[in-house]
Amino acid sequence: MNTLINGIHHVTALASDAQRNVDFYVGILGLRMLKKTINFDAPDVYHLYYGDETGSPGSILTFFPYEGLSRGRKGGGQLTYTAFSIPQASLRYWMDRLTQFGIPYAGPYQRFDESYLRLEDYDGMGVELVATTNDTRPGWDNGKIPLEYAVRGFHTVSLNEFSVDRTVALLTNPMQHTLVAEEEGRYRFQAGAGGPGNYVDVVYSPKDVRALQGAGSVHHVAFSTDTDETQLAIREELLSTGYSPTEVLDRNYFHSIYYREPGGILFEIATNPPGFAIDEPLESLGTSLKLPEWYEPRRAKIEAELPVLVAEAK
Ligand code: ZN
Repeated sequence: MNTLINGIHHVTALASDAQRNVDFYVGILGLRMLKKTINFDAPDVYHLYYGDETGSPGSILTFFPYEGLSRGRKGGGQLTYTAFSIPQASLRYWMDRLTQFGIPYAGPYQRFDESYLRLEDYDGMGVELVATTNDTRPGWDNGKIPLEYAVRGFHTVSLNEFSVDRTVALLTNPMQHTLVAEEEGRYRFQAGAGGPGNYVDVVYSPKDVRALQGAGSVHHVAFSTDTDETQLAIREELLSTGYSPTEVLDRNYFHSIYYREPGGILFEIATNPPGFAIDEPLESLGTSLKLPEWYEPRRAKIEAELPVLVAEAK
């Protein structure tokens, strides 16, 4: 069988303040600002992309910061925690760093034989740092965090579900994930080559409150596919198992289809190409505001209405 899905491509979430969002993900976590663009449906709102040096699939976290948006609520039917992979030897460094910048955290806890810290961004978004020995991805050298301690990309996304059977069925077939571990109602799936960045945990959460979307909540998770052809193939598979994916949409940096999993979480399948260097050089990714062609005539007005952002690692 052809590999149609490789693992996580990106996670997209909502925020309430663009600068505070940059301060957390660039400033504290040390991710690279990959792209500064706008919500194509609401050009007065940024769309900010963070990740590793090149924006590798499996490292990309994106936000729509709606200024003043009220907070969401964690619960069932939601992607509750987005976990990043950090090197095993950096756990103490990260504990000290979070403390230094006044970011409360809980842990370290143990899960599937790995230690992790649990924290929230400034909007209450659930973030975890999982210390692992088996992640060979390079991470981004921001000049402040020693490269050997830098975030490598995603580790896992956790989907809290009131019931798990139909979500598990979707992930397994047609989405080509394999169950690799189970612990206390948490079912770990992996896709493609497996390992950090390719894990999805389905967390059986019958007693959760229902999640509310708002600042600090994840809007959707995207899974990576190699080409436009593999995307159309997985789209056909979804259609034939009763799902209703959208037509292919052009997101400039990738092509996308969307559908809702049975628990209500929005899924996307995104192509790896063309990537983030399509409209600016790799060396200067994220430094200037990029607009799709059809908004270029309105650039001056759009730029004037957006807050100026400072993206610096602390
Ligand atoms: Zn997306």
